[in-house]
Amino acid sequence: MFRGIGQSFLDLLYPPVCIHCQESIGSRQERLFCPQCSQELALIDPEGRCPYCFSEREIARFAACLECRRHPPKLEGIASACDNLGPARTLLNCIKSGDRPYLANGAGALMVAQFVRLQWPFPDLIVPIPISFWRAFEIGYNPNYLLAKSVGSILDRPVEHLLRIKEDAYLLKKSAPVLKDKTILFINTLMTSVNPMNDCAEILLCEGPRALYGMTFCRGQ
Ligand SMILES: [Zn+2]
Ligand SMILES: [Zn+2]
Repeated sequence: MFRGIGQSFLDLLYPPVCIHCQESIGSRQERLFCPQCSQELALIDPEGRCPYCFSEREIARFAACLECRRHPPKLEGIASACDNLGPARTLLNCIKSGDRPYLANGAGALMVAQFVRLQWPFPDLIVPIPISFWRAFEIGYNPNYLLAKSVGSILDRPVEHLLRIKEDAYLLKKSAPVLKDKTILFINTLMTSVNPMNDCAEILLCEGPRALYGMTFCRGQ
């Protein structure tokens, strides 16, 4: 069902060529991608990935990786919709480059599809990872917020800017609601080895939430 929702969001626009390979889409003009690139836009299979950091390692099914056993993770789970390759990477770059903010709807639908597949608990709050003022100014918007809005609208959950950046550090906003016993889902565009979700989690954990999860659209190699 959620794959259908993702596709229907992607169907909202009518470009004449595939945004990834630039092939003419011809009569299938309701698509962003040509049929071949649409097929490549697959969700990552969570089996065989560490459930805490989503790394691809030689691990037993759904078991924590060595790194997560050595350093207990701050989040209950981190996952991504797609690997940062091919059409997913192109979609991410279009969202992050600032020229096509509406593409966040399709990417958000893929994130929800992965969320449902993982059977994570429904969040009380969806929280975009903040970006610096100048980065947002450069792009024209915060891509994490657009993805969070897309995920929030499909799951029918509120999106809140709980955090802000000051001098490269994350801070809890004074206006943040009570977070005790809340389940919170962080949203970010891309996960790489440097993951700001861990720093954000450290701040929110002081507020006594029930659980923290994090979902990104893409996962870097
Ligand atoms: Zn294509
Ligand atoms: Zn791990």
